[in-house]
Amino acid sequence: MRAVVGIALGLAIALSAGACATEQPGTLPAATAALGAADVKSIEYSGSGKWFQFGQAPGPTLPWPAFDVSAFTATINYDAPAARVQMTRIQVVEPDRARPAPVQQKPVQVVSGTFAWNMAPPPGSAPDTPPAPQPQPAAVEERTMEIWTTPHGFLKAAAANNATSQPAEGGSEVTFTTDGGKHKYVGRINAQNQVERVQTWIDNPVLGDTPIVISYADYRDFNGVLFPGKIVRTQGGYPVLDITVSSVTKNAAAAVDVPNEVRSFSPPPVNVTAEKLADGVFYMKGGGHHSVAIDQRDHIVVVEGPLDEARSTAVIAKVKETIPNKPIKYLVNTHAHFDHSGGLRTYVAEGATIVTHEMNKPYYEQAWAAPRTINPDKLAQASRPATFETFTDKHTLTDGHRIIDVYKIAGSGHNDAFAMVYLPTEKILIEVDAWAPVAANAPPPQGPPSPFAVNLYDNIKRLNLDVKQIAALHGPRVATMADLQSAIGRAGTNPTH
Ligand SMILES: [Zn+2]
Repeated sequence: MRAVVGIALGLAIALSAGACATEQPGTLPAATAALGAADVKSIEYSGSGKWFQFGQAPGPTLPWPAFDVSAFTATINYDAPAARVQMTRIQVVEPDRARPAPVQQKPVQVVSGTFAWNMAPPPGSAPDTPPAPQPQPAAVEERTMEIWTTPHGFLKAAAANNATSQPAEGGSEVTFTTDGGKHKYVGRINAQNQVERVQTWIDNPVLGDTPIVISYADYRDFNGVLFPGKIVRTQGGYPVLDITVSSVTKNAAAAVDVPNEVRSFSPPPVNVTAEKLADGVFYMKGGGHHSVAIDQRDHIVVVEGPLDEARSTAVIAKVKETIPNKPIKYLVNTHAHFDHSGGLRTYVAEGATIVTHEMNKPYYEQAWAAPRTINPDKLAQASRPATFETFTDKHTLTDGHRIIDVYKIAGSGHNDAFAMVYLPTEKILIEVDAWAPVAANAPPPQGPPSPFAVNLYDNIKRLNLDVKQIAALHGPRVATMADLQSAIGRAGTNPTH
């Protein structure tokens, strides 16, 4: 079978200029000829539809939240290889979920060879600052996948990577790997010689080998090139993109120069600092996602394992330096958004029990059971089962001296399985994504207060918590209750009496 495909592929390449298809329908060479893959050096396609925010489901059993996309353009250079994707999008308002008013976003995402970057105003810059290249080295894998899963890209990559084929449903299933076997691609070619489905897998700290499935439908002739009119991509089981294509141009100019600041960029080392909030309570900062470490009698409790294994490894090292000779017995997780749960597995490998809302446990158990062949992490190597302590409304951890209360944040539009932590003796509240303080000297944010912050305040009041310090796990500083009251326009009110 393999030999036949190889001979036919040579024929397809030889005949592609004349588009003469004598190959058996539904095969890789027939599709290569029908789509003119050998002639296509670049593709630019535009359309509109929906985009969905991967890893940010508002509940552990819900799909990724939707954004309306009014304009979408992907420019793909197969020779470089390089790609630029730009869109205009705004989050879909869900009537039963209170979120801050959506703001239009215009992301521009680029990959060229082993470099990836976004065009965006620098973080923290003034409004109307012009976009500049922001290096995104961690995005290379995903953006490269986007090139080789397009119909023409898949056919080209299949030819370049010794694809194997087998008959399937009147067409064929074509399989190959790239990067020395690291990334596998499986495509379905139908009896009409169309690439109708491509599946691959990329690494994710929460989901492991994460399936990506792209479906292509409604092929038609766009100005001399056959291309699907409908593209739907799922990632981790739910849609991330749903585009109706309105125009396609082949072999348009698609040069992508790597900016010098991207080429010379090297990621800074992961930084962790420990700031004492009270005796035995440390705010573990550095970077955009913080944690809190609490020194109990014979163990340590860490609140939050954000981002990924690199962050967790650095936080754990700093925690052990700050609180020597004790094991990390508990890791308290605020919610399942991927930027707040991607580092959890490192704590499981460390021997910690995960404390999380009961809705999250089955989600993590299922996610963590997935294969991790692309990027085996410490837990995959340790092969240790995760242990959980879960709760509905409240859970207390104590060493007989200090009390650590974990509360559900009820009724938040941000997440349905959402927790905050309160230390009643120290009067410290630990929360994230409900509210982030601004820098002490920064002007207060304009516009109506965030419903997430109002909801946090209402929960503090409902639970009658006496809060002196708020250790927000995003933001530049420890805040006070007065800061929160001021942020939601309720300065001068007292939440506890
Ligand atoms: Zn979140």
